[in-house]
Amino acid sequence: MNSRAAAIAITAIIWTLCWGSPLGAEEVERDVPVRVGDLQDMGVEAVAVNDFVYRIEGEGAFFLINTSEGSVLVDTGTHYAQNEEQMAKVRELATGPIRKIIVTHAHADHSGGLPRFKPQIDAGEVEFVAHHRYGYMSRLQDELIPYFKSRYHVLYPARVSLEPETKPRVYWKMEPTRPVFPGSDYRFELGGVEFVVIAPENTGEGEDGILVWLPESRILFTGDLFGTLYPMFPNLYTVRGEKYRDPLDYIDVLDQVLALKPRVIAHSHFRNALGEGYIQSSVTRMRDAVQYMWDEVVKGMNEGRTVHELMRDIKLPRHLELSQGHGKVSWSVRATWEIIAGWYYYDTIANLYHVPATAVNDDLVEMVGGADALAARATGYLAQGKPLEAVRLLDIAKGHETAAVLVARIEAVERLLKEAGEGHGNFSEIGLLEADLRDSRVKLGVRTAPEGP
Ligand SMILES: [Zn+2]
Repeated sequence: MNSRAAAIAITAIIWTLCWGSPLGAEEVERDVPVRVGDLQDMGVEAVAVNDFVYRIEGEGAFFLINTSEGSVLVDTGTHYAQNEEQMAKVRELATGPIRKIIVTHAHADHSGGLPRFKPQIDAGEVEFVAHHRYGYMSRLQDELIPYFKSRYHVLYPARVSLEPETKPRVYWKMEPTRPVFPGSDYRFELGGVEFVVIAPENTGEGEDGILVWLPESRILFTGDLFGTLYPMFPNLYTVRGEKYRDPLDYIDVLDQVLALKPRVIAHSHFRNALGEGYIQSSVTRMRDAVQYMWDEVVKGMNEGRTVHELMRDIKLPRHLELSQGHGKVSWSVRATWEIIAGWYYYDTIANLYHVPATAVNDDLVEMVGGADALAARATGYLAQGKPLEAVRLLDIAKGHETAAVLVARIEAVERLLKEAGEGHGNFSEIGLLEADLRDSRVKLGVRTAPEGP
């Protein structure tokens, strides 16, 4: 664990020890003390939430709930090797056999440890509880593994290879033995502990997100309802390339959370949120921020403004500011537009057909007298502080990258990267900009390498 991850772990322990003491409103953040990329450094440890609930920390945290008649797991951790260490903590702390496993959604950092329990699930000894859309959301990932790997490889080049899969992803092939449906909570009691499993219509990270509520201790397990950070603007569109997540449904779920009045939100990444006052104020802020974004998109659409104008202009007012380290308002603006209206923008009939704007780029390069003319114009834009216009011009030169094109592109992307880092530090934005930069640097290295003997 690096020192930053150690600091995060210590902070998480302190927060957990300060049970019930709300964080100040000034900490309802922008200032989330971690970044999404720090997840990869999260070490394994068990942190007591109270005298019978443990948070099993890791890249995907999950929870162990002990009762006098056996234990319940909420999520199962990642599919990476770290899961073995996490499960060792479960074996050490569980006071009885695992009776039920509730998986909050089908992302691999939550369902990855599930196959370990497959024999007991198949034998009916362990109940596998999940949203009835778990199977559907699993299919969307399992059937598209090559597509997702090609995208993850850009964002996590050192971690995700492009090699074909050799083993099946068993956690995406398992169906819940106890599916839970919207409007029909699954309530059960085990060893004197009451559980309520709630399946909303749609949550933060997909259509299969569920909530687990312990009414007596008022702990709410939220999986990735709030995404990676807490609190943050939700990731209504993840540029990894998953389905859009509906803002109105999201607002409904946050209203359900507020009505429960939790004392603890057992959030799956980095830390729990503690204290009713803090939870009510931070969840209200998240709900109101999404409502604000929705209202502004609807207003803009009705006024005849374009999606790009709205991406540029819709900003959260100061009292609703939130971290955009994972979700990003401008990307959610576009997602909201497309959830409402789909992909045809009534901009050009050419977009009704299969020939993209880029099909005539080679003609443009030839007409302007070569790619260096584009590089010169892009450099002019950079001098005016307009790196986005520069990138658009340089995109036209794709396939004709001279050294001048690459130098201008590197400068433009470096500027965007600096702005992104000094701004919200959005993990995906930075990852994609870094990938673009790497690509240009490699190409420039090849172009400027000395001739061989
Ligand atoms: Zn997750």
